[in-house]
Amino acid sequence: MAVTKVSDEEIKSQYDYMNKIRSFNQGGKYFIFTLGCKLNEADSETMSGMLETMGFSKAESFDDAKIVIFNTCSIRENAEEKVFGKIGELKNIKDKNDMIICFAGCMSQEEHVIQKIKKSYSLIDIVFGTHNIYKFPELLYKKMVEKQNKVLDVLDIDGTIYEGLPVKRESTSQASVIIMNGCNNFCSYCIVPYVRGRERSRQPEEIIKEIEGLAKEGCKEVLLLGQNVNSYNPRDGYNFANLLSDIDKIDGINIIKFTSPHPKDFKDDVISVISKSKKISRVIHLPLQSGSTNILKAMNRGYTKEQYLELARKIKAKIPDALFTTDIIVGFPGETEEDFEETLDVVRKMNYEQVFMFIYSVRHGTRAEKMPNHIPEDVKSERFGRLKTLCDGMTEIGMNKYVGTVQKVLVEGESKTNKDVLTARTTSNKIVNFEGPKDLIGKEVEVKIVSQHVWFLKGELV
Ligand code: SF4
Repeated sequence: MAVTKVSDEEIKSQYDYMNKIRSFNQGGKYFIFTLGCKLNEADSETMSGMLETMGFSKAESFDDAKIVIFNTCSIRENAEEKVFGKIGELKNIKDKNDMIICFAGCMSQEEHVIQKIKKSYSLIDIVFGTHNIYKFPELLYKKMVEKQNKVLDVLDIDGTIYEGLPVKRESTSQASVIIMNGCNNFCSYCIVPYVRGRERSRQPEEIIKEIEGLAKEGCKEVLLLGQNVNSYNPRDGYNFANLLSDIDKIDGINIIKFTSPHPKDFKDDVISVISKSKKISRVIHLPLQSGSTNILKAMNRGYTKEQYLELARKIKAKIPDALFTTDIIVGFPGETEEDFEETLDVVRKMNYEQVFMFIYSVRHGTRAEKMPNHIPEDVKSERFGRLKTLCDGMTEIGMNKYVGTVQKVLVEGESKTNKDVLTARTTSNKIVNFEGPKDLIGKEVEVKIVSQHVWFLKGELV
């Protein structure tokens, strides 16, 4: 599949649209409602960058926004209701603010959603997809200047790569950097390959240039993003292990994280690079999904229970301080009690640092949707409850081991619940709240852990 690299001329013409809008912009505000994954959050930072280049500033809420973007997610069943419900609520303030409502993200790539918008959502002014975010300035210009009624531009292609757009990041000390997009795996329950297209990797020179720039601005931590980071493949002879070791050499960046790797593509060269690095996080996200080889086959995951456990053993042998987190789907079609017991067995064996648990929900257009033996909701919830009890117990034991230790943490900002408290993260990704001066934000400090509260630790500045 040919990767469509968006031309520099095309990007330049989008900057021309940004400047045209800026020239007459009376300082309006924008609000982006982001749903879903880290990739969506990173795309929203690009949308913010373009809007700020057009002279808009960030609004605290919908209420005082002129431009509103819904950056949608297709993974969760209730995501659709949530978005359309929220759009409906804007009816009253739309006219008051002369608001322009934009619909973007993965749901825009779903035909049934586009038909729904055309038929029943006149409130929505602009629709664009995951493949042409770079075109947003032109689409906004068509609405604001050419006064087009509804601007709908969704590309039904395998995917694009574009470079050089402005990005407005939430934090200066931590940054998410997209290294690749799309997925070729077609796990039978997943909609991502249909809405994010085929795998395509950015050139390493572009990624390294971006991260060197971030380091100069004081960034300490980078999170490398992709649906399948370990199948990163920009050109022959250069892969994810090469990229990790090149980023490891960048001065100023002290913490390197990545998500999401696929167990079937976790190669020895990546394990070796991590084992030699002082910067690459020891917290490795290894999505299991199910512990049953039968279900893994039905999911089209490309590995067995034994192969998964063998991979974890291999990683632990080379990286003794490795910690694992994972994703698990409960109640996949055809899952028997024995299959579920296999999942619990893997969880006990892996002693995960954290488990992200999901109850299987049908996604329209996926192969699993048509599979027989869908599990009744009450059975799914009962199994989910058992898994949660097991994981919560293991999490509590895991958190207890931090009490009394001194941890190096990166201070991320003020605690959401208490402005006098700072929130930070350990190198093992644990949240630590402690009292300290605001000028520590963005810095790495040492904190003594005094107590644990299941999802966060309490500390005292050393
Ligand atoms: S690897 Fe599977 S679960 Fe992950 S994005 Fe691709 S299809 Fe979806």
